[in-house]
Amino acid sequence: MSARDQVAGEIIHATRELKLPTVREVFASLADQARAEAWSHEEYLAGVLARQIASRTTNAVNTRMTQARFPATKTLAEFDFTMIASQARDLVAHLATSTFVPKADNVILLGPPGVGKTHLAIALGREACQHGWRVAFDSANGWVTRLASAHQTGRLDGELRRLDRYRLLICDELGYLPLDAQAASLFFQLVAHRYERASILITSNLSFARWGETLGDEVIAAATIDRLVHHAQVITIDGDSYRTRHHRTTPTPKKEPHQ
Ligand code: ADP
Ligand code: MG
Repeated sequence: MSARDQVAGEIIHATRELKLPTVREVFASLADQARAEAWSHEEYLAGVLARQIASRTTNAVNTRMTQARFPATKTLAEFDFTMIASQARDLVAHLATSTFVPKADNVILLGPPGVGKTHLAIALGREACQHGWRVAFDSANGWVTRLASAHQTGRLDGELRRLDRYRLLICDELGYLPLDAQAASLFFQLVAHRYERASILITSNLSFARWGETLGDEVIAAATIDRLVHHAQVITIDGDSYRTRHHRTTPTPKKEPHQ
């Protein structure tokens, strides 16, 4: 065995011990490049370490994206910002920096069906994952169902604390299905627990004035909204459904004349 093979064997052993799979993958080819381009030892080492860090960062983002359980892949790049008012556009651009997450600020996206609320919720959630924050997505009813089963087995407090690990909790579609009294109370407890502790992003087809309808109780609705909006960005998106509008503005392809 040549001296170089022996050193390679030692490096491979060390990368297993230290769990540095990318170093294992790249050290030999980068060494060839280093020799060809006369890198210093330090430059070579820095290059290898940079590759390991890059792959670890990518893996961590991918893991957070998977754990978030987004129902679809929607990105800000795919979002047509000409469809929303310029004020909302500026707010979304600001939210895309994810600085609201460490501040435990909330985000409320309001508007009729089809205007892109869920799209933006997912896209902002993805940005938060990319900025290093753990995110979890579910419908408002999905969250309430989970909390109800925890409550039934006396684990509500534990479950609320467990959810603290997600610095951004996305509750999609509040208002489509009315919540019964217990569900509304659980939803309030979720909001109250996370108040000034961790962010919630809510999408709803109902203006605040109508949250009493879905929460079944004006007092609970007022208390929930009070805590939510104390530190929140509220974005109201008006207009027609993107689908309908898109349909209307896309010209129907003309039939080819018979030849
Ligand atoms: P909402 O949650 O407000 O009911 P969605 O986010 O589900 O609406 O949007 C409906 C569909 O239209 C989705 O496929 C979404 O990606 C698309 N969509 C809505 N608004 C836009 C937009 N401004 N740019 C690009 N796609 C959009
Ligand atoms: Mg939606």
